[in-house]
Amino acid sequence: MDIPVQYLKGVGPQKAKLLQKLKIETVKDLIYYFPKRYEDRSSLKKISELINDEVTTVLGTVVEVKEVIPRDKLKILKVGINDGSGTAYGCFFNQSYLKNVFIKGKKVYFYGKVEKRFFETNIYVYEYEFWDKELLHTNRLVPIYPLTENLSPKTFRQLIKNALDKYLEEITEPLPEEILRKYSLPDLKQALMNLHFPESSEQSELARRRMVFEEFLLFFLAIGLYKENYQKKPGIVIAGSGELEKKFIDSLPFKLTSAQEKVWREIKEDLAAKKPMNRLVQGDVGSGKTILAALALVKAVEAGFQGALMAPTEILAEQHYLNLSRLFAPLGIKVVLLSGSLSSGKKEAVYKAIKNGYADVIIGTHALIQEAVIFDNLGLAVIDEQHRFGVEQRSSLVEKGLYVNQLVMSATPIPRTLALTLYGDLDVSIVDALPAGRKPIKTYWLSSQDKGKAYAFLLKQVAEGRQGYVVCPLVEESEKLQVEAVTKLYEKLSKKFPQFKWGLMHGRLKPAEKEEVMENFRKNNIQILVSTTVIEVGVDVPNANVIIIEDAWRFGLAQLHQIRGRVGRGEHQSYCFLLGNPRNQEGIVRMKIMEKYNDGFKIAEEDLKLRGPGELSGTRQSGAWEFKLADIVRDQAILFLAKKEADEILTNKENHRALITLALEKYGDKINMLQKN
Ligand code: ADP
Ligand code: MG
Repeated sequence: MDIPVQYLKGVGPQKAKLLQKLKIETVKDLIYYFPKRYEDRSSLKKISELINDEVTTVLGTVVEVKEVIPRDKLKILKVGINDGSGTAYGCFFNQSYLKNVFIKGKKVYFYGKVEKRFFETNIYVYEYEFWDKELLHTNRLVPIYPLTENLSPKTFRQLIKNALDKYLEEITEPLPEEILRKYSLPDLKQALMNLHFPESSEQSELARRRMVFEEFLLFFLAIGLYKENYQKKPGIVIAGSGELEKKFIDSLPFKLTSAQEKVWREIKEDLAAKKPMNRLVQGDVGSGKTILAALALVKAVEAGFQGALMAPTEILAEQHYLNLSRLFAPLGIKVVLLSGSLSSGKKEAVYKAIKNGYADVIIGTHALIQEAVIFDNLGLAVIDEQHRFGVEQRSSLVEKGLYVNQLVMSATPIPRTLALTLYGDLDVSIVDALPAGRKPIKTYWLSSQDKGKAYAFLLKQVAEGRQGYVVCPLVEESEKLQVEAVTKLYEKLSKKFPQFKWGLMHGRLKPAEKEEVMENFRKNNIQILVSTTVIEVGVDVPNANVIIIEDAWRFGLAQLHQIRGRVGRGEHQSYCFLLGNPRNQEGIVRMKIMEKYNDGFKIAEEDLKLRGPGELSGTRQSGAWEFKLADIVRDQAILFLAKKEADEILTNKENHRALITLALEKYGDKINMLQKN
């Protein structure tokens, strides 16, 4: 199965290139390229019973083939089929070559959209298939794959079928039979076959279940192996006198919430322990995680070490820098920022400060993990918004020192038990309450016709001294188009309401430009920031209390919650307006969920309910370890079973050599990465 896909029947050099775009290099890659959903084309209808506009499958015998040319450059091939109840014409546009394919007397399936006209029933054929072949495209559950241009679904399905026919036999079963039996799972061959061409949705669901179980099992085996090894390692002890810590806490403009205090105690214990800290702090947007990072950094410096803080965006890194250098200045802690906007000369100076130990706290983006960055004595690495980083990046930072303590922070709302299980390599603390006095954000969904009301409200608040955000709709096709869209929106708004100070923010601005915009926004020199989703994570300007999200239904729930989290960060009542007319029912439901709930956990739960079993692949990633099919929330039940099974296997490794080897093959690189710490 590891042979290049090019040698598979039906794939030439050209198709191989297209497949490469989908990251399919080998036959195995192809077989493991799963459909994103299935289309039920199994209901076969009689021609006499067809209804205008419906999309369905019919079966009939070819009785007539004719070509009509209604106008220049448009040739319609009409293929009449009869099923005893009547005749329907399959229509094909500019595909004259099909004339020789539809031979009178052959039985054929048409799947397409019905158009009834006076005395004629036409079918705009999406896919056809002859009756005497094994059915792949019609009259069954049909797999729908995410494909690329110039690769037709029909061709692709056939390739999958060819691969399965020829190579499925070669596949060996990695899971012990007793496990398959214990959980009533199909074997791998059957599962792969049924994932692509299931006979029923029960069959595909069971196949998926099996693959998910295997993914989780190998994952937990790998994590378990890593943890066994890791716990043997010594760690840097960060204890210190507590003097700096106290001074810092006393200097804060607010009192720590009891949730923050509880988590801080947990972190402090870890830091002081002999094994390296490996802790995840999870808390909803706005729960006040930054201050916990700050405390840990103070503690590291107090004990004579350097601390690093890595954030996923320039904007956020810069914000942390400004915030922390202000808080740390009275304590004599030196903070530096490794920013993309630094000139190479300045960058060198920062590198030097990090290396010779002048810098106590170092803040930056991915720039921190570049080779040129050498620490004097790194004792603590904090990773903010960890779901934005891969395992590799996370551990590269830790690798900059020896047995460095690691603190990772995330707003991904998943239940505690799940987090504990999933982040097997991390201990978990949860900041489970917002700072006192926070008022729930009031959220309203308005149709496009009513958007004027939202803007009028925003401008009124701004006139009273507040600030706001306008988030531009998502343009998925390209960043360039996205930038054009947000720029246009900005120009339109600033022209229409010139009495206000507008700002523009997007991903293509230079780092220095971004810094300037954010600084002006923080100082209220910009009153309303028109932005793409670059402000999605972490940005904290408490005076901003209104956010308008244009075409909000284009965003997923998790993202909407994050974006909305830019407001509701201060004393003022905050408002979120979701604008737009959703194109589908699901979009409407999303808007209503956002109106109803403020709590990230609740929203995640609703999100889960929304995404029924129709969707196949796991879209919610754990951040660190990627799963192909498994979805950590949706597949929780399987996840816990797999964890239990993995724990048992780990106590009895000798009897499960093959599985352990497989886990290492699959996750070995990542484990090595972690082991090096
Ligand atoms: P997140 O958890 O989303 O990273 P932040 O750490 O950015 O949240 O905190 C959000 C806002 O709440 C910030 O403006 C911060 O200064 C403020 N904050 C944090 N802790 C407290 C507290 N105990 N009391 C009042 N405000 C707080
Ligand atoms: Mg944050």
